[in-house]
Amino acid sequence: MELLRKEILLATNNAHKLKEYRQILAPMGYIIVSPKDLGIVSDPEETGNTYRENAYLKALSFARKTHRPVIADDSGLEVNSLLRFPGVHSSRFGESFSSYEEAQQALIRMVKATPSSRARFICTICYLEKEDAKPLFFEGTCEGKIASECIGKNGFGYDPIFISDSGLPFGLAKEEEKNAISHRHNAITKLAVFLSISNN
Ligand code: IMP
Repeated sequence: MELLRKEILLATNNAHKLKEYRQILAPMGYIIVSPKDLGIVSDPEETGNTYRENAYLKALSFARKTHRPVIADDSGLEVNSLLRFPGVHSSRFGESFSSYEEAQQALIRMVKATPSSRARFICTICYLEKEDAKPLFFEGTCEGKIASECIGKNGFGYDPIFISDSGLPFGLAKEEEKNAISHRHNAITKLAVFLSISNN
């Protein structure tokens, strides 16, 4: 019974995200299962206008299907001088090109036409204990800038064009280096604190 209580479904098909959540929550005794582990195929449309709305839409869709506690996140890259674009539209912008490399190049060009390259990654996690429960949100950011060219090939999405304020180019970062400072790490840590308090 104890084991089941500690199982949480992570509503994502993104293997990178799954790994990041497991690395942080497994040592606390949480078993993070994926839709794939449960044989569920679902990719709810991200029709919300905010990270919170999208994270909730994803969590609710999977909670309805599985009747389990679910976490879902929505994340994005915000460039100050582009009025926070691509922001909540980060995955749509990326997928509108034939490859993420093209999206990265396009964003670098857009940023070069502005006076500032300041940017941040944002992650909002929605935790839903059950489908009719009040959603709880945990937010994390990672401040930095857009690089003047792609650096490295590690990570996913916009990692190769992001350099954190601590000087780490995410495209060159080892998983544990990125996970120590990332927006997702910062949001997961807040979730982890909540989980440890609420289960004690
Ligand atoms: P979503 O949270 O799955 O909707 O994805 C948002 C999009 O933001 C991703 O597809 C990536 O393009 C981008 N993104 C979010 N987190 C990261 C990250 O840690 N590294 C690089 N890109 C990211």
